[in-house]
Amino acid sequence: MFAGWIAQNLHLPLWAIPILLVVLISLRYLLFAGGALAVITLFEKPLAPRRIQPSPFTANQLWREAGWSFLSMSIFGIVFVGLFLANRRLGLFQIYSDISQFGWLWFALSIPVAVLIHDFYFYWTHRFMHLPGVFERIHKVHHLSTNPSPLSAFAFHPIEAVIEAGAVVMIALLIPIHPIALALTMLYSILTNVMGHLGYELLPRGVAVHPALRWLNTATSHNQHHRTYAYNYGLYSLVWDRLFGTLHPRYEELYDKVTQRRRSAQAPLAADEMG
Ligand SMILES: [Zn+2]
Ligand SMILES: [Zn+2]
Repeated sequence: MFAGWIAQNLHLPLWAIPILLVVLISLRYLLFAGGALAVITLFEKPLAPRRIQPSPFTANQLWREAGWSFLSMSIFGIVFVGLFLANRRLGLFQIYSDISQFGWLWFALSIPVAVLIHDFYFYWTHRFMHLPGVFERIHKVHHLSTNPSPLSAFAFHPIEAVIEAGAVVMIALLIPIHPIALALTMLYSILTNVMGHLGYELLPRGVAVHPALRWLNTATSHNQHHRTYAYNYGLYSLVWDRLFGTLHPRYEELYDKVTQRRRSAQAPLAADEMG
């Protein structure tokens, strides 16, 4: 895909594509997940009132999350190279290389449409992975972090990594998409993903009940999902959780508690306060 497109345009040999892709995906993870961890460590004190759970991240947790995440990167690389080859040799997918083929308007529109497809796909595959029997075998790895750090963004069992990569396959099957539009979608995806695992709520008070913003996913919502193993299955949005009745009944209350804490009154929330 994106790496394939680069390789094609830079006339790199075929064997260079998977290596280039895994390096690019890993760099993206290091930059965003590692960068977020560095920022919250550096600004630990001023950010303290916005910390969602009081317990600190442990070194063991961080190493475990990074280990699973790098394994996921390699799996993403293999799946994406398969997709690139299937697109080029079999014409199965709708990845196109000439922007003028569908125009700039579609290029711009394809990004929110891809986000919508990814959001819907993620919600249902996530709910599937919470089914008894499936959860223990696959998704439990991701939930080993009951208080997730940014490094847990891609801490998946290998089968879950394949399922997550399936979102890109689904997008390329359903809509014509340029590799750069796909890369921008994935960039937005990692931003949302890292924010969801930040452990801190940085959005302003009132977002969870705002008529328009309440549909957005937040760090509080995904943190609550990790702690309770239920509810709040969304990635980019809470649209499907709100529509299908899987939003945690105390999500808005928790969001309000986390975002109203002042520096002078930053007592950690008691377990029964967190919902
Ligand atoms: Zn889950
Ligand atoms: Zn998570």
